[in-house]
This record gives sequence, C-alpha cells and structure tokens, in this order.
Amino acid sequence: MTPRPETMSAPNMAPHIQPSDLPDVRGKYIAGQALADITWFRVGGCADVVFMPADAEDLSAFLKQRPRDIPVNILGAGSNTLARDGGVRGVIIRLGRGFGDLVPVGESEIRAGAAALDGRLAAAAANAGLTGLEFFSGIPGNVGGALAMNAGAYGSETADVLVQAEALTMQGEARILSPQDLNLSYRTNGYHDRLVYISAIFRGVPDAPNDIRARMNDIADKRGTTQPVKSRTGGSTFKNPGGANPDGPKAWKLIDAAGCRGLRVGGAQVSELHCNFLINHGDATADDIETLGETVRARVLEASAIDLDWEIRRIGEVAHDA
Ligand SMILES: Cc1cc2nc3c(=O)[nH]c(=O)nc-3n(C[C@H](O)[C@H](O)[C@H](O)COP(=O)(O)OP(=O)(O)OC[C@H]3O[C@@H](n4cnc5c(N)ncnc54)[C@H](O)[C@@H]3O)c2cc1C
Repeated sequence: MTPRPETMSAPNMAPHIQPSDLPDVRGKYIAGQALADITWFRVGGCADVVFMPADAEDLSAFLKQRPRDIPVNILGAGSNTLARDGGVRGVIIRLGRGFGDLVPVGESEIRAGAAALDGRLAAAAANAGLTGLEFFSGIPGNVGGALAMNAGAYGSETADVLVQAEALTMQGEARILSPQDLNLSYRTNGYHDRLVYISAIFRGVPDAPNDIRARMNDIADKRGTTQPVKSRTGGSTFKNPGGANPDGPKAWKLIDAAGCRGLRVGGAQVSELHCNFLINHGDATADDIETLGETVRARVLEASAIDLDWEIRRIGEVAHDA
C-alpha cells in the first residue's frame, strides 16, 4: 500500500482512491469502472475502484486489512441501484465467478452463491423439483441483492424461502444468519449495509418440475405485459406505502392519481406501462432520473399527503455541474 493521495476531486468531496491504496488481493481491482456498464439504468459516473474478490477468503482478508477511512459499497446485479453522475468514491465490492454456484443440499434445499442471478436460482429449484422459488424467476437481481432487499413478487418474498444466509461483517468476520437474525421485512433487512452476503440456503417443497416451469412461464408472460422489462430501469422506484399488505395503498396508483404517468425530465420518463417504473430512454443522466423521482414524490405528497419512500438505492455523488 502507498500513502493515500491528498488530491481532492472537488472542494468538500472525498479523495479518489487508487488500487495502490488498497491491500494486496488475489482477486481483481478495476480502476475507474464506468457505473453505467454495471447497472440497469445505464447511467452514472465512474467508481474509483471495483473489487472483485477471488473467493470468500480473499474478500475476508480485504475487509480485515482495508483502510477504515475508505468508503465501501456493495453492488449486485445493479438492478435496484441508481449510480449518480459524479461517480462513487472508494471501493465497490462486486461478487463474480467464485460466488455463483448453485448446489442442491439434501432433498429440499439449495445453496446459492450471492452472485447467482435470481432467475438461475429459480431454474435450479425447478430442475431439482422444488416449488416455492418461482417468484425469483422474474426478478433481475442476484442472490446477494435479494437478501439485502428481501426481494419479492406475486405474494412471496425472500424471507419465506430462506433457511440461512452466510455473510461477512465489514470487518471480515464470518456469520451465519437465520431470517429472524436478519430481521427481514418489506424490501429491507435489519442489517442494511453492515454485511456482505456470500451465499444462502433456500428451501422448497417437492413438486413436478414441469408444473413448476409452467408457473414460471406464467410469471414471465404476466411481467412482459405489465412491466417495461426490456427497458433501462431500476424496477419499482418507490416502496408501496402499505408494505406487503395486498390491500394497502400502492405507489403506482398514487403516482397515477397525481398525474405523473408519462412525465418526463430530460431523457428520463415515468413508464406509461407501469408508473412506479422510471425509464432511461437512452440519453438520460442520473440527475434526470433522480430529479424525475423527486418531482413524482413532491406531486404525490401534494395530491395525497403521502410521502413516498425510495425503494431504489442511490449511490455516489452528484456531478459538479448538475
Ligand atoms: C425490470 C425490473 C423488475 C424488477 N422486479 C422486481 C420485483 O418483482 N421484486 C423485487 O423485489 N424487486 C424487483 N426489482 C428490483 C431488483 O431486481 C431487486 O431489488 C433485486 O433484489 C436487487 O438485486 P441486485 O443484485 O440487482 O442488487 P443491486 O441493485 O446491485 O443492489 C441493491 C442493494 O443490495 C445490496 N447488495 C447487493 N449484493 C449484496 C451482497 N452480496 N451483500 C450485501 N448487500 C448486497 C446493495 O448494496 C444495495 O444496497 C426489479 C428490477 C427491474 C430492473
């Protein structure tokens, strides 16, 4: 490690970090990674450094040795994250090969690496003849993101099928946590930003693989007609104020009632198909998307006196000229 650079990117901003400021690792450091290339919205500045650990030991050693003043973020598949135009200072941990295995455990469980995509987990469960994990098939994140967000759809959520999560603390210590330990609730968990998930065990119930696949196909058809799944988006922008309660108020209805369907800021638009989704038409900046989201929030507050809470995670700094 060399001494930290004193140069600041702008007044009052954290210094840029280089790989030479960080511990030696067996995995890979990528300096200046464009965040648009690793997030679904396809916007944002650059990360100082992305760290892709070789395996859990490498990740643990990094967490133990890292300089404590360097900020650390974690990114999964980037399907719920808006990266701001000024980029992200410090290190982003991104799990890749080495964290993607899907292995049956006994008769009714599957261990999934945190970098395995949710869709692959659903397919592995179907192949193993286990029902209950079909809802994962349409969620474009990975297992780490599903644990962090308690991802869910169509009446099921991660907490319902989770047996245990295997994680490292930000100090590099191994932990095994039950769903109760994690305190999972609607689109969040009690450990937000304090753990790096490395794998998890999920439980299903035996069923015929063809029946399970038929249900997954139904989910794909339903999503294709109700959500802009082929767009540059971050999924649901705001949490439903009624949480998981199916009879509670829905964000999309409030947004629609506030007249925001189709609303535009620069290259960003509220989806005409599902108005809790924001879309990048190709030339949007992160600032366009965030400004659009805040405009929607303000209009909903005015129209219905409900203050929507962002479900999408926003990371990084605004650009100096934004
Ligand atoms: C078209 C579309 C449809 C969607 N539909 C749904 C849906 O039906 N239901 C739903 O719940 N969500 C949905 N989403 C949102 C998103 O897919 C989920 O929130 C998903 O769980 C996020 O996973 P990710 O890997 O992309 O996380 P990211 O966006 O990369 O990160 C999200 C959060 O998870 C944390 N995180 C990621 N990996 C780890 C890890 N290994 N350890 C610790 N923290 C970690 C990050 O730090 C961040 O705080 C949708 C998104 C899109 C684009």
